[in-house]
Amino acid sequence: MSHLAHVDPEIAALVVAEEQLQADTLRLIPSENYVSHAVLEATGTVLQNKYSEGYPGKRYYEGQQNIDQVETLAIERAKSLFAMDHANVQPYSGSPANLAVYLAFLQPGDTVMGMALPMGGHLTHGWGVSATGTWFRGVQYGVEQTTGRIDLDKVRDLALAERPKVIFCGGTAVPRTIDFPGFAEIAREVGAVLVADVAHIAGLIAGGAHPSPAGHADVVSTTTHKTLRGPRGAMLLSTAEHARAIDRAVFPGLQGGPHNHTTAAIAVALKEAAGPEFRAYAHQVVANAQALGEQLAARGFELVSGGTDNHLLLIDLSGKDVPGKVAAKALDRAGIVVNYNTVPYDTRKPFDPSGIRIGTPALTSRGIPASAMTSVAEWIDLVVAAAKAGDEETITKVRADVKALMDAYPAPGLPVR
Ligand SMILES: *Cc1c(COP(=O)(O)O)cnc(C)c1O
Repeated sequence: MSHLAHVDPEIAALVVAEEQLQADTLRLIPSENYVSHAVLEATGTVLQNKYSEGYPGKRYYEGQQNIDQVETLAIERAKSLFAMDHANVQPYSGSPANLAVYLAFLQPGDTVMGMALPMGGHLTHGWGVSATGTWFRGVQYGVEQTTGRIDLDKVRDLALAERPKVIFCGGTAVPRTIDFPGFAEIAREVGAVLVADVAHIAGLIAGGAHPSPAGHADVVSTTTHKTLRGPRGAMLLSTAEHARAIDRAVFPGLQGGPHNHTTAAIAVALKEAAGPEFRAYAHQVVANAQALGEQLAARGFELVSGGTDNHLLLIDLSGKDVPGKVAAKALDRAGIVVNYNTVPYDTRKPFDPSGIRIGTPALTSRGIPASAMTSVAEWIDLVVAAAKAGDEETITKVRADVKALMDAYPAPGLPVR
């Protein structure tokens, strides 16, 4: 980064500081990861200088000799990896990708059904504060209070009563397998388009560690930067039937020129995700999350739904008598980075909820094995107790132990110092 350091030492110093922070901390936010050097290099290329509104072979600007090939590679790899007929790799991120789905299939005021935000759904699934819940009529399903799981009979009853045109399945704080065939049956029955939003679990699906929505969902929406371990971006995949509607909604419906450097990095990430090492990675992510869940449960932590099938754990801290935000901030001081999160039927407010959400994608990218989850659970336990007791000494001690583990497992994509 010699050019950056010369031109803008302030930003260069902050980038170096962030590299150090990502190297030294145990990053447990389930939507985060470490991309490879190859993905990082692709995002930093001159491909970003090019304008290319349109699609390969049908552009509004000349000079697409290389860009068309880049985007075609990304499209073909996406189709092959997720076994879908069609792929659009241009959405700027997950939220704009979902907005394109609304533009493709709904008129303002039409009904959309999704999981409620406090139950684990995403803002863009028709939740009130999102454009998707103000310009459209959102009806929301949740999970059962006793099981922490979706009751598909209730989803079906709601769909029959409300007749949504689009149904979203998937979410952002869902620790259990999504029943794609079950949702598909409901969508078929009410004549709705089924959108599987697999933003969180795309890498698990690619690696065979979560069932695939292919053959069940009409549209698959995903970010590329979570478990898939690519650059910040998104993709919309679909059946052949909906290909045209999706493409027209993304461009010219919603976006202008695609971010070609990101498209290139998506292509690289898809190539990496198709390899045997990534399969092992995806399975290890789940094994690590399950091991961590068992260790936390053994220390009296209450896991929403009792555990996990995927990469994430949603922890209700009410029983520990520590608010989620207090725990998250104490963990951050200990070098363990999580986010505070609402839990289903939370009695506290969204900005000060009862839970924390943790996940294993990033630590697994460092090669940290399941055997280390005993220490991780012990640290979380110590820090949550210390947060309650105001014991900063313990927090400082844990920070040193975390750093030692991080030093033993260097992260991909970071410079070696
Ligand atoms: C992360 C996420 C999104 C949005 O992605 P952004 O890139 O943050 O806009 C959409 N849906 C789900 C389920 C997500 O988890």
